[in-house]
Amino acid sequence: MARYTGSVCRLCRREGLKLFLKGDRCYTDKCAFTRRGYAPGQHGQSRKKISNYGVQLREKQKARRIYGILEGQFRNYYERAEKLRGITGENLLRLLEMRLDNVAFRLGFGNSRSEARQLVTHGHFLVNGKKVDIPSYQVTVNDVITVREKSRSVEKFKTFAENPKTLPAWLEGSSENFEGKVLRDPSREDVDVPVNETLIVEFYSK
Ligand code: SF4
Repeated sequence: MARYTGSVCRLCRREGLKLFLKGDRCYTDKCAFTRRGYAPGQHGQSRKKISNYGVQLREKQKARRIYGILEGQFRNYYERAEKLRGITGENLLRLLEMRLDNVAFRLGFGNSRSEARQLVTHGHFLVNGKKVDIPSYQVTVNDVITVREKSRSVEKFKTFAENPKTLPAWLEGSSENFEGKVLRDPSREDVDVPVNETLIVEFYSK
């Protein structure tokens, strides 16, 4: 499975905001964006006028990077979102939120989406009692996500259990109980990512 293997801090600097891709480090003074809050590269500090297309492109790249998705797969999400009933941009965000790696992250299993993704690929989770190790697996309403019995003694999961997260309203459960449930589809208000999905739709509609 292809994935981005370069410096993730560079991505924050390129997008001009903290994308919180590295978990705990993002909240410390070691954050590269805090130290060098300008774009990477030789011309990173020069001011450039950005076209409409450039604004739309950056928004799409930002969303892609937040969810850790490569270009082709992101476009597939967009095409699926377009075919669904409702507002395409909101459908797109909903599809991204309902990925298993994102849901695991939202439930508190992982300090970043990439950590949650790794835990999924390592086979630590069950969905409705069945092992699922595909990060892009789409969960649906009423799905129950649990940490495998065998995995609960893993140090990481013990730490997550000791530090439960506040969950979004569309999920219930807790990392303390090694379990979570999808109560409903997330609405736009539930999705706290700093992305303007309308610009992404404009980008792909050209
Ligand atoms: Fe982004 Fe986190 Fe790196 Fe800071 S530490 S630049 S927020 S990934």
